[in-house]
This record gives sequence, structure tokens and C-alpha cells, in this order.
Amino acid sequence: MEDDVLFRELFSKIEELPVIDCHEHILGPKREVTRREPIASLIQGYVQSDLLSAGITQKELDILNNNEIETEEKWELFEKFWKKIEFTAYARVTRLIMKDIYGEEEISLQSILRVRDKIILPTEENYNSLFEKANIEIILSDVLWDFQILKKFIDGRLDYYKKIRFLFPLPQFHNDVRSFDFVQSVGALLDRHIVSLEDYLEVIYELLKRAKDRGIVGIKDQSAYTRTLDYELVPMYEAEKLFNRILSDPRNSLGWTEAKPLDDFLFHQFMNFARDLKLPVQIHTGHMAGIRNRIEKTNAVLLTNVFELYQDLKFDLFHGNWPYIGEMLFLTKNYPNVYMDLCWVNIIDPIYSEELYSRAILTTPHIKINGFGGDYFDVPEYIVSHLKICRENITRALVRLIKMGWIDEGSALEIAKDWLFNNPKSLFNLT
Ligand SMILES: [Zn+2]
Repeated sequence: MEDDVLFRELFSKIEELPVIDCHEHILGPKREVTRREPIASLIQGYVQSDLLSAGITQKELDILNNNEIETEEKWELFEKFWKKIEFTAYARVTRLIMKDIYGEEEISLQSILRVRDKIILPTEENYNSLFEKANIEIILSDVLWDFQILKKFIDGRLDYYKKIRFLFPLPQFHNDVRSFDFVQSVGALLDRHIVSLEDYLEVIYELLKRAKDRGIVGIKDQSAYTRTLDYELVPMYEAEKLFNRILSDPRNSLGWTEAKPLDDFLFHQFMNFARDLKLPVQIHTGHMAGIRNRIEKTNAVLLTNVFELYQDLKFDLFHGNWPYIGEMLFLTKNYPNVYMDLCWVNIIDPIYSEELYSRAILTTPHIKINGFGGDYFDVPEYIVSHLKICRENITRALVRLIKMGWIDEGSALEIAKDWLFNNPKSLFNLT
């Protein structure tokens, strides 16, 4: 913790604020909970990307992730790579879990063996106690990309955690439209056999409408992983020609970049649907999970034509567009329908996040900043540890502005409350 009275004072007040977590991939507690080996439990999520970046092989990583292999047996391998990454922000999440949740100051074979019997499992009790202690009130979650889960949700048969509100998963409905079988698997969600592009669009609209009736609060798109964010306006006949090629022979399939005009056309149609149904759109921009992907295709600035065209549709841009900070600030300042979301970026790069929070105050209406999203799967201890780092980054940014004489402490706390709670509440119409 920082050696600064103002920081400590403000941080303790920010810790008390309620939080709307703007982005996770969780469904909720698991019914069947199996034992977890401590090293496997401590390297969940993004820290694995840093291990890979440090040179661990996938095969070695599989050994560390294996719950059946004992801690003593994998310690040497773990230590070798942990020493190479222990100072990254992802690794700090692991160190915080050790310290705050298990009460261990250091990571060593002895300390890991001591926590062996205390490993946090994804039970309802742990979800409740961790989230309540962290003051997380609502969690926006993106897991409906699995068609089985989506179907259950739409039919009202899905069992999920009480704090969750879902987003509709967009990417596959435009990005994966390459084959007859895929198109029919979408139709099957509504028990329909698709015979035209018009049919396909009708099915997507109906899916969105039913999902909205079941309580989704927006749409989520992370196709920047697999394509550029440059969505061109394509005439319908061009899209239809490609779509008909898929339908005319079940053995046909489209490749990338051949499929791009159809993909672009569908994306624009879905933006229209979102506008019609008054659903805000969350878009992945910037850095991607994993390794060996291309960053330039993910820069939010590529979406400029989309922001200009759909002026009454609200866009929540993810991950602070890391590492393109200037573009993020420009887009939020320049377009009334663009909001910035600092989910995940707080542990990608804490100093970048502090910089983004403080420069956002000076450049953009502070009601357009959504402060936190953990972006983890069903590992609640990672979510709350990430939130702690986010609260530190927010506090540092605000302390900097107080010391500049730009804001006073009272305003700082109001801003933090807007970032963590009021802004997402209003953008996603949460009650
Ligand atoms: Zn995510």
C-alpha cells in the first residue's frame, strides 16, 4: 500500500463504494466442485499469457494446470517461470490472492503447501462472501456464446447466479457465417430451417428480442480477436451472393477474407437491430487474451464510421483500447454515443489505467467512464483481487488531480462513485 496519507484515506473510502462489474464470463457457482491443486488454482486466467510470453511451452503449462499432479512434483517448473513474471500486473493478482485471501506474504513451496487445504472453490458460499465483501452488486456477464446455454436462457431454463445480468453474444452470428451447417445451427435455436438471407436476419432479430424479454442488458462483440474492426457498408446483393453460395451447396464454405463483405453487412444489420431494441453495444477493442495475435486490427479508431452512422446507439468500448490511449480519449470526447470501459485494462497495465482515468477527467464528461470489469471466468477470488488493483489505480488518478488542485476530495469520491456504479447503472438501464 502506498505511503501517502491522502491515498490511504481516499482508498479506504473507495473500498466502501458499491460496484457494478461491467464485464465477466461467469455463470455462477458450480454444483459439482472438485479439489483444486494450489499451483493450478493460483495460475488461472491471464497470468498464463505471461507464462507463455516468458517461454513456457503449452505442454509444460498443461502440467501446471493439471489438478492430478501434486504440488511438490510441479514446483520446480512453476518456480522457474514464476521468477520470470512475478512483477507483472497479472502476477500481482496471484500475489494478492495469496496475501489477502490466504494470508501468505510470499510465494514459496512452503507457503503454497500451507494453503493446500484452504483453496477457494467456486461454491455459492464463496461467491456470496467474496462479492459482498468487495461490494459488487451487479455483474454483467458474457457467456451466452455457447449455443446450449443460449438456448436454455432463451427458453427460460437457465440457472444462473443472482447478481448476473447477461449480454447477447454477437461475434459468431456474423463472424462464423461461413458454412451451411453453421447457418442451420443458428436456425435450430428457434427450430427453424434457414433458406435465405432474409430468413437468417429474421432469426437473429427474433433471438435478440427473446433474449431481451429474458433480461439481457446489451450486446457484446469481441470479434477483434479474429477480424479487423473495420466494418464497411456493403450492398445487400453482395452479401446475399455470398450467403447463397453457402446455402446452394452444403459442401461449400467461405474463407477469410472472402467472407468479409457478408460479415460486414451482417454486423451493420445487427447494429440496426440493437438500435431498434434500444440495447447498448459493448465492443472489445485493443489488447487480446493469449499470445501471437495482431494488435492493429483491434484499434477502436477503426470503428469510427460505425459511431458516426448509428448516432442513437450507445457504444461501450472495452479495455481502454490498450495500448492506443490517445484514440480512446479522442473517441470518447468526440462522439456523444461513445463510452469508455476500463474492464480488464487495470491488470493489463495499471499505470496506463491510472493515466487513462486521470486524463479522462480532464478531457471527457466523467459520466462516460465505466470504471471496472474483471473479465475472468468462474474464479471469484481473481475478480475481487482485480477490483482491488482497479480501486488503487482509480485512487492514484484522483490523488494526482487533488494534488494538482484540479478537484477536491469530495468531488474525487463522487467521481469514483460514478465510475464504479452510477455510470454503468445508467448506461445499461440497471435497476
Ligand atoms: Zn472478456
